[in-house]
Amino acid sequence: MRRIVLLGLVLAGLTAPTAVAVSNHSADGRELTAARTPGQASYDVRLTANATGVTWTGREKISFTNTGDSPLREVYLRLWGNTWDGCKAPVKLSRFEGGTAAAPTVNCTAQKITLTKPLRPGQRSAVAFDLTLTAPQRAERFGRSGKYSFFGNALPVLAVRDQAGWHLEPDVGIGESYYTLAADFTVRLDHPAGLAVPATGTSTTSRGTTISKAKQVRDFAWAAGPFKQATTKSPGGITIRTAWTDVVTAAAVKDAQTRAAAAIDDFGRRFGTYPYGEVDLVLNDNWESFYGMEYPGFVLLIAPPNEEGPVVHELAHQWFYGIVGNNEYADPWLDESFAVYASYIHTGDNQPDCWPGRLDHLITSDMGHWKTVPGWSAYVYSYGACMLHDLERTLGTKPMAAMLKAYTKANWYGVATPRAFKAAAQAATTKDLTQFWKDHAIG
Ligand SMILES: [Zn+2]
Repeated sequence: MRRIVLLGLVLAGLTAPTAVAVSNHSADGRELTAARTPGQASYDVRLTANATGVTWTGREKISFTNTGDSPLREVYLRLWGNTWDGCKAPVKLSRFEGGTAAAPTVNCTAQKITLTKPLRPGQRSAVAFDLTLTAPQRAERFGRSGKYSFFGNALPVLAVRDQAGWHLEPDVGIGESYYTLAADFTVRLDHPAGLAVPATGTSTTSRGTTISKAKQVRDFAWAAGPFKQATTKSPGGITIRTAWTDVVTAAAVKDAQTRAAAAIDDFGRRFGTYPYGEVDLVLNDNWESFYGMEYPGFVLLIAPPNEEGPVVHELAHQWFYGIVGNNEYADPWLDESFAVYASYIHTGDNQPDCWPGRLDHLITSDMGHWKTVPGWSAYVYSYGACMLHDLERTLGTKPMAAMLKAYTKANWYGVATPRAFKAAAQAATTKDLTQFWKDHAIG
């Protein structure tokens, strides 16, 4: 997300949320067959807002199965909402059940819970805890802008363990470093009746209670405030719920609704129908570090829209990051390069002669690398998307489209990997792509 354009890809997943065996890579870059765990998670959350919607308190219960191939002795929660404030902790947990909590680590973004009893492969268990979330005073994904509060990456989510171990990578402060498996959420949000609460999932609001249900999503986000709201439908039947702050013009709302309807239907035709039925567009005129931000079924957008057009980009992320997941720390190109590419092909722009020449870094570098060198957005967004346009020129437009659709299907609700994408591309042509990857800085 962050700024605009780009796209994502997919590979290897399984549609059944059971065996999540996929490949991943270890620290030295070797790909491993990994049984990711904990899986088949179900989040049951009940939170109550204060009068302004800035602070929410309540309880979160997470049920999960050990989908790995060895005992699960602990789980980790990621408290991404603490990224900027560390252990001053706008995300506070207490009263744990199901295990014993250690002191938080990784700048208070990782919470280990040692399970009461180790969980054998295939067994199911749960942890629960009290939760207080206070939106920090800044116009960010987890923050506030005037009377409006935003809860992106605020709700604690399970970390992932695979054969490389627990993934506790830090948020490096640019882009996304997140990695979660698809899960089901039922979230009850009690709030003053005067506050609107757009949220991930299919939501119903009655007398100050909003209940949102979402199946097979990687995260859950919401906002709270005296938003104006409208509901429209795409020609393909997807419900588009738009919420906007009082500074946003009617023209900007209309523009976002129109672009969203066209994009969500087009991407559905290209990559598989949007499966969640409903998407929320949340428009504000002030974000401190982005133009658009993607969450499952919920996007934050700048209004009025600028020429970079975040609506289309953030909706492309519904497929590349959302439906087809990836480890955003290890493989940021698997969502950003694909979201940019998808945005371009949506508008009919095939980016002729886009390749910049010899590059100093691999497009496939991880966020730890991009933190230390300049050029992250050029590489991961622009050059990565250009690589996909060049791949389309190499495979042919129709085979490229068929390959992407198959890759998305194979990784639907799963986790894509670089190896899986390269294999999918290679399977779509009789040409040996080895030199293509080398020429395009794909490691
Ligand atoms: Zn993006």
